[in-house]
Amino acid sequence: MIEEMLCSKDSVLLEALRIINENAKRTVFVVDGDRHLSGILTDGDIRRLLLAGHRLDEPAGMVCNTTFIYARQGEKYQDMLAKVSKSVSIIPIVDGDMRVVDYFQCLEELHMPVANPDLTGNEFKYLIDAFLSTWISSKGTYIGMFEEKFAEFCDSRYGVAVSNGTVALHLALLALGIGRGDEVIVPDLTFAATINTVLHAGATPVIVDVDRESWCIDPAAVKKAITKRTRAIVPVHLYGQPCDMDGIMGIARKHRLKVVEDCAEAHGATFAGKKVGSFGDIGCFSFFANKIITTGEGGMCVSRSARLVDRMRLLRDHGMSRQRKYWHTTVGYNYRMTNLQAAIGFAQLERVDEVLKARDQVEVEYRQRLRGLGGIEFQRGDLSQRRKVVWLVSLLVDGRKRDLYIEQLKLKHVEARPFFYSLSRMGIYKKFATSCPNSRNISARGLSLPTTFLRSEGDVFTKVRNVLSGGALS
Ligand SMILES: *Cc1c(COP(=O)(O)O)cnc(C)c1O
Repeated sequence: MIEEMLCSKDSVLLEALRIINENAKRTVFVVDGDRHLSGILTDGDIRRLLLAGHRLDEPAGMVCNTTFIYARQGEKYQDMLAKVSKSVSIIPIVDGDMRVVDYFQCLEELHMPVANPDLTGNEFKYLIDAFLSTWISSKGTYIGMFEEKFAEFCDSRYGVAVSNGTVALHLALLALGIGRGDEVIVPDLTFAATINTVLHAGATPVIVDVDRESWCIDPAAVKKAITKRTRAIVPVHLYGQPCDMDGIMGIARKHRLKVVEDCAEAHGATFAGKKVGSFGDIGCFSFFANKIITTGEGGMCVSRSARLVDRMRLLRDHGMSRQRKYWHTTVGYNYRMTNLQAAIGFAQLERVDEVLKARDQVEVEYRQRLRGLGGIEFQRGDLSQRRKVVWLVSLLVDGRKRDLYIEQLKLKHVEARPFFYSLSRMGIYKKFATSCPNSRNISARGLSLPTTFLRSEGDVFTKVRNVLSGGALS
């Protein structure tokens, strides 16, 4: 808001101070009634004026700095950036008549989120292409192209693009005929969509513990939880870590259980050389903006079974017969993805290897820079047969200090997130839980760090090291 920066040249210094106090920018632009710029005053200027004998009831226009740095309307961002510095961090932008129209400020510290999407490839080009085609709903060429290319990326056969990762899970359970009276085993440490969709399907979730090392569902705990009503397992490849799919698939075969893989955080991870999503009956992915690749909102089910894929396509589109318009053969849903989303996804997929590599490198750098700090444990990347990918760089710290670290990093404009709460801790899920000590422990100690920043954006690694080494306040 430019108004909060303006001080009339007839106002007294006291009024200028009041405005500075309100806008918290340490600066006012002194203007006439038509916003023509007369000069600039900072709180430091006013202090120096008072020390030199000036009084607070003198008009700002008489004492302000009349030589100052400013930018012209329409000036390039880079040029404005070159004009600001530590001492002059905020400058006015003026029009051809020297009227103030805006200001430019260099924030010394950029906010560093845990994740943001990288849309620097063909995303915009394909999006515009889809837009101009006028096929902006769920028909259009990008949907089929995205489904096919994504299934191939997952070592699977078919893809079914949907509105988000949550409905991908729901659709998978429905297609497998899972519903009332069925028990579905889920891990205690996951995003709530995993269990919610089991409940949406009308089935009964059974929450089991995770493995201490991998943080993923523990096959031994799955085995113990099986009853005669168990119908399916939903392993979650957490923070990019593949589950022990040998263990899970072995149990599933033995007890004739369905497997729906929740791959929302693990695009491209492999177990025994095979991509996650290709082991179970159906693999479910999310393309939310903070996931490994994104379509804004979006999801995908992949499967090798033509029968399951047909079923999912039918349910995705209101259960409407494909031969007979408006004739419904089952009670379906509208879970479709738009062509606009698919266009973005198709472009993301062209660069997925590059994106995964960049994320890996960020984690490698964190590991190097935090080496030697006590009490820190990264997500294990060296577990037999598994090749994890990096969703959010995640590690375990001292549980008593975790929240303090998050606060201290925030003061340095670095976002850090706690892990998901154990599902078994929450009132609405408690009754479905078995004992989950590992999950409780990991959840209380877990911290996710910024994973997708550019090297030019300040030294995140050093800030994180300073905080985690306990030197944050020095
Ligand atoms: C993100 C996520 C989902 C849900 O995906 P949305 O696209 O946000 O609906 C499901 N499971 C896990 C483990 C996730 O991380």
